[in-house]
Amino acid sequence: MKFNTKTIHGGQEHDPAYGAVMPPIYQTSTYAQSTPGGHKGYEYSRTHNPTRHALEKSFASIENGTYGLAFGSGLAAIDAVIKLLKPGDEVISTNDLYGGTYRLFTKIFEDFGIKFHFTGLQEASNLESHITDKTKLIWVETPTNPMMNIIDIKAVAEISKKHNVLLAVDNTFATPYLQQPLDLGADIVMHSATKYLGGHSDLIMGALIVKDKDIANRLYFIQNASGAVCGPQDSFLALRGIKTLHVRMQRHCENGEKIAKFLKDHPKIEKVYWPGFEDHPNHEVAKSQMKAYGGMISFVTKDSNYDDAIKIIENLKIFTLAESLGGVESLAGHPASMTHASIPKEEREKTGVVDSLIRLSVGIEDAEDLINDLKQAIG
Ligand SMILES: *Cc1c(COP(=O)(O)O)cnc(C)c1O
Repeated sequence: MKFNTKTIHGGQEHDPAYGAVMPPIYQTSTYAQSTPGGHKGYEYSRTHNPTRHALEKSFASIENGTYGLAFGSGLAAIDAVIKLLKPGDEVISTNDLYGGTYRLFTKIFEDFGIKFHFTGLQEASNLESHITDKTKLIWVETPTNPMMNIIDIKAVAEISKKHNVLLAVDNTFATPYLQQPLDLGADIVMHSATKYLGGHSDLIMGALIVKDKDIANRLYFIQNASGAVCGPQDSFLALRGIKTLHVRMQRHCENGEKIAKFLKDHPKIEKVYWPGFEDHPNHEVAKSQMKAYGGMISFVTKDSNYDDAIKIIENLKIFTLAESLGGVESLAGHPASMTHASIPKEEREKTGVVDSLIRLSVGIEDAEDLINDLKQAIG
């Protein structure tokens, strides 16, 4: 089955009860048993729910994995991965990470004795010098948020395999439409399904996808034991979202390219971060591991400061000023005060997240309307 078919049919079967073509929303916490243990595969909805199960099979299918797990948020999914570790274990991660991931690592799990190293991984070889016999996990995002750095998943996977370290990739920005990390050697793929997979800014959800049975079983155990699952209604919505992932992504990419080029040619723009540009430092890697370049763009205007950036964002009429990304509607954000406010200013600026940086999640509206909106806002 090809990707565009998998988004609709992957892992799905018609409901066994009445043949419903769409998965019913099994809004139930528990299931009748004829005798203790005598049930039809479902006992209690933290452990298993048929609607969530259908979604988990869809997750596995679209990422070319074998096992999928759905969580109550992207961060709950990341939390489950870190719970594979023990005190004393070490994690190496990128230094321009999603702010909430950085906060979870440093403000929660460091207190449990897990050590995190943050470093630029645009050069995969950089990894070697940070690996010790305590390193158990490499955590990578690509493209990174919000600087759109590209990390060579295949190269990182080769190094992680050599050292017998797990590699997890946060594939939220790219989605499996653009890149499939398991095929490039990653062990775990994570999504904030809140973003492109759900696609309509109407739910909060996380996903993990793996190929290896042993890792899957450990994660299923954590999912059930810690209990950060999503409900059946949200599972239904996410499944519905995934069915149009490929058509939405195609338009996100087309609009993204038009807007990135418009911004690059604009006399008031200093710099545009988008991996589709040939002068993007890792453009060749992006070209080899991604199908197209996505709808996430960051930019800085010339001689601008915090207030100038805020003014542009406030002037936008079609783009909504909001956290999040990946919905059908265009959003604009100010990383320094929003998504990345939990990263100290000093750390933030080292990676380019300056006060004047603006991040766009380009939606699937008419590209000309979006460009006109940016034109009037930038002035
Ligand atoms: C939003 C996001 C997360 C966190 O996901 P939630 O669903 O908000 O918990 C993690 N990684 C990336 C790249 C994100 O954009």
